[in-house]
Amino acid sequence: MKPVDIKSLINYVSLKILGGSDYLLDALEEYLVNGEGPAIVAHKYNISKHQLRGYAQRIIEKSGSEIRAKKIIPILKQMAVDVKPIVVRDENGVYTCTLCNTVVAKEDSEEHVRKYHKDMLTLAITNMSEKLDEIRAKKEKPVIFTSAS
Ligand SMILES: [Zn+2]
Repeated sequence: MKPVDIKSLINYVSLKILGGSDYLLDALEEYLVNGEGPAIVAHKYNISKHQLRGYAQRIIEKSGSEIRAKKIIPILKQMAVDVKPIVVRDENGVYTCTLCNTVVAKEDSEEHVRKYHKDMLTLAITNMSEKLDEIRAKKEKPVIFTSAS
């Protein structure tokens, strides 16, 4: 079985959250872990079913399997508690970068973060990695994040 690509998961989640998709893990938990219908979850977070399935697919690929993804999502949520978006959406659906006060297109928000706020992205990734170390240290036996076999 494919190993868990934890680095890639952390990168993906960090960038999504910073770019304003901070609902990502909640939506995935409801859809993948709790088994809610995609239409209900997509509507709740104001995204399309297609987007929701796309997010799920990415997380499953990086986790190695759907079963693993279901276990990892709650852990990712714990890891991401301190990561806050820097691009935010207002009630009119306009995305603004709170660091440089620039209006960005929704589809460009992640690219904006990567291009202009790489230090913030690095910080978020470091923060998530440290949280993972804490979580690992608390557990007696690491179950899913063992190295590739
Ligand atoms: Zn900015």
